[in-house]
Amino acid sequence: MKTDILVIGAGPAGSIACALLARLGRQVLCLEAGVFPRFQIGESLLPRCNDILDEAGLLSVVQARNFMPKPAALFLQGEMRERFSFADMFPGQRPAAMQVPRDDFDQTLATEARRMGADIRFQQRVDTIAFNGTQSVVQVTDVETGARSTVEAKFVIDCSGYGRVLPKLLELEKAPSLGPRVAIFNHFEGDLRPTGPEEGDIWACIHPRGPWTWIIPFKNGRTSVGVVAERAMAEAAGANDRERLLTLLSQDPNTQGRLGQARPVLKTARLEGWSAAVSKIHGPGWALTGNASEFLDPIFSSGVTLALESSSRAAKLAHRQLSGEAVDWDKEYAAVMDRAIGVFRVFVHSWYSGELQKVLLHQNKPESIKRAITAVLGGYVLDERNPFVRDANRTLTAAVKLA
Ligand SMILES: Cc1cc2nc3c(=O)[nH]c(=O)nc-3n(C[C@H](O)[C@H](O)[C@H](O)COP(=O)(O)OP(=O)(O)OC[C@H]3O[C@@H](n4cnc5c(N)ncnc54)[C@H](O)[C@@H]3O)c2cc1C
Repeated sequence: MKTDILVIGAGPAGSIACALLARLGRQVLCLEAGVFPRFQIGESLLPRCNDILDEAGLLSVVQARNFMPKPAALFLQGEMRERFSFADMFPGQRPAAMQVPRDDFDQTLATEARRMGADIRFQQRVDTIAFNGTQSVVQVTDVETGARSTVEAKFVIDCSGYGRVLPKLLELEKAPSLGPRVAIFNHFEGDLRPTGPEEGDIWACIHPRGPWTWIIPFKNGRTSVGVVAERAMAEAAGANDRERLLTLLSQDPNTQGRLGQARPVLKTARLEGWSAAVSKIHGPGWALTGNASEFLDPIFSSGVTLALESSSRAAKLAHRQLSGEAVDWDKEYAAVMDRAIGVFRVFVHSWYSGELQKVLLHQNKPESIKRAITAVLGGYVLDERNPFVRDANRTLTAAVKLA
């Protein structure tokens, strides 16, 4: 079989690429190893996602799912708390995001991209690729039957997330800049949520001994809860992951107050070693997007936003290239994504050093600093009006001095 563009994986990165390419009239085949709906972690979106989904014609189907609106991010430590409302960003930036169970969200995107004309096939695992300039040969296995097939593609966009197909095949993997941590998580029922317009806020609670917890409320009454900790601390908290999760939650008055009466309803899950980096994110006939490129850390919920940002850019550039235009991938893709990820990288490192936690929780920040931080938390990491986008390190150093 032959296609113009092969997309590997039908997560958010894959589906946005499919939708955009189908809209542009480009032949696109997407091979997804799994079956949808499937559980995936990464449930809190940022307002910037809405712009990108809108551009790809996917926002209205997502909005029709009636997901929990996410108006703000709330950081809590002991008695201290600070709320960053997305209504207070720069003019033109969207005032809210969504909290999405990923089984529903990912299936909604893939179904709509298919309806728009993308050929998305499930249980099709990409095994190897031989790059031959503009006609690459891809070996595929049908996961259910074991049958092998071959696809020829003029361009490959790797959206395989944690599968990291091309980074492994092309030996692009680089040591990540962040130390390893463990996340232990589950969905809960019965949490004591705020009522009214703050119900959909994401909570990031700082545990008295260093870990932090996400609390992400859904419309279906369930709440996603996960603790991120150093491995040794997580291990010491119990004999199994469920016990570790419940123990760590019980030790922080903020999580205990909200979740003390709540019950986990799924099998407790654990992920570790998620930080990943690559030496290159594009090459002749291929590009990496989303988690198949670089993933930092869950703390600022940037994963899906960066997956959509990178994949929509890569899809449009691949289309231009196949249309005969000259594309400067270094300038138009690698440099742009490095810039976007770079802003979050500065924030993530500073969070774990403890400095950013002080800035976030500081009560009397100048309004201009608070607005600029909120816009980063909203995923607007390419908007030059923001001093953190122009120079994240310098602006953060100045903010730390004020805190
Ligand atoms: C603990 C934790 C918490 C997180 N919380 C958040 C959050 O709150 N908000 C947020 O935005 N992000 C969060 N993230 C990040 C988020 O999970 C990812 O950034 C996001 O899912 C990336 O989307 P993607 O489309 O790149 O990859 P994925 O969603 O992983 O999709 C990749 C798809 O590729 C398929 N695939 C893999 N290998 C192959 C193959 N060989 N052939 C065919 N298909 C293949 C997979 O089956 C999968 O469906 C979190 C991450 C972690 C680790």
